[in-house]
Amino acid sequence: MKIVVLKFGGTSVGTIEKIKRVTDIIIEHKKKKNKIIVVSSAMSGVTNDLIKKSKQISNNFSDSEYDVLVSSGEQVACSLIAGRLNHKGFKSRSWLGWQIPIFTKGPHTNSRIQKVNKNKLLRFLKEGGIPIIAGFQGVNMSERVTTIGRGGSDSSAIMIAKFFKAQRCIIYTDVEGVFTTDPNKLKKAKKIKVISYEEMLEMASLGAKVMQPVSIQDARLNRIDIEVKSSFIKKPGTLITKRTNLYNNRIITGISSTHNDAKVTLVGVKDRPGVAASIFKPLSINFINVDMVVQNISANGKETDLTFTIKAEDLNKTKKIIQENKRINFKKVLFQKGVSKISIIGVGMITTPGVTFRMFQALANKKINIQVISTSEIKISVLINKKDAKKALITLHKEFKLQK
Ligand code: ADP
Ligand code: ASP
Ligand code: MG
Repeated sequence: MKIVVLKFGGTSVGTIEKIKRVTDIIIEHKKKKNKIIVVSSAMSGVTNDLIKKSKQISNNFSDSEYDVLVSSGEQVACSLIAGRLNHKGFKSRSWLGWQIPIFTKGPHTNSRIQKVNKNKLLRFLKEGGIPIIAGFQGVNMSERVTTIGRGGSDSSAIMIAKFFKAQRCIIYTDVEGVFTTDPNKLKKAKKIKVISYEEMLEMASLGAKVMQPVSIQDARLNRIDIEVKSSFIKKPGTLITKRTNLYNNRIITGISSTHNDAKVTLVGVKDRPGVAASIFKPLSINFINVDMVVQNISANGKETDLTFTIKAEDLNKTKKIIQENKRINFKKVLFQKGVSKISIIGVGMITTPGVTFRMFQALANKKINIQVISTSEIKISVLINKKDAKKALITLHKEFKLQK
């Protein structure tokens, strides 16, 4: 059975008119004699509104109720899509995570899909039906509704493609594919035809919202090719695939940026074993994600400075944790909001020397000060002042000739 999984993001089902257009895309695929499984997000803005409501009801809203609440957005979108398909004369129905079931493991609000039960859906497909599955949600062993993290319907689609051994998995969104950088931030951004899982994972983790990072990990582990394309414009999109399928000689594939970071510097920390662990343990217990970390070499062998970055919304919590941490001694602590992380990504940098220099020189020429640096095999990230972020993006996009 040739199965095609089609995923529609919130922006593609944001209005009744858009849902009507989406059902036309589904019908087009159906007419090609394929079995179609649709995965949908909530209409855009709905999940954010639900989260806001949970905060208005209580500042201590439980994670399990959060999952029941925020997963409801997908239910609405799925039933509207199925309803429209019925209206057009097609057999279709919505399926919620627990009805299939899609089993998840892990904590509420951030579970992972473990298994998708195929029986009911296969029967429905054989009867010619088009199942419309609610993305972003599942059910755990205690029969509680779970969600799998913001942007998680991408992951739902990949896991459905995996369990049904789908021929294709197409992610429909509001842009034409994956671009060299966010096309809504830089007009000169160019669509990438093919990109490796590794590069896409870095781009997504470093701020490219177009795909959720977990979904790329799932796709890479299960060797599922992903096509990302527009639900509004009929044009070829981007293929996300394994590295050996790529034939290009680009050095840098894309640039990602984040704009909501904060920097914490501990000045004069005692330089002895276990200090870093004492600083980061309470942060990790409180689910504060620490990103870049730099520790200076201690000049006198006794004290050092340690800098790390976090999301700006975690700054107040972090301040409190650091100030109340009796296990660490330091002279001074500095907190800075309004920093941005700009990252260049590309497998080409493995074999090309001088990329780091080119990046730093290009930024220096524009008088952009680099505060923190972190690198991996295929990416270089720098932390800069938020007000320089746009200029840095334009500069680096030009330096690495990404507009060509
Ligand atoms: P959906 O509702 O389909 O899940 P998202 O809003 O999650 O859509 O993701 C699409 C958005 O991702 C685009 O509108 C674009 O602004 C943003 N984006 C960020 N980086 C990139 C990139 N490198 N390529 C394409 N889009 C990007
Ligand atoms: N509706 C969920 C969110 O906004 C899931 C998704 O869009 O993929 O995060
Ligand atoms: Mg998304």
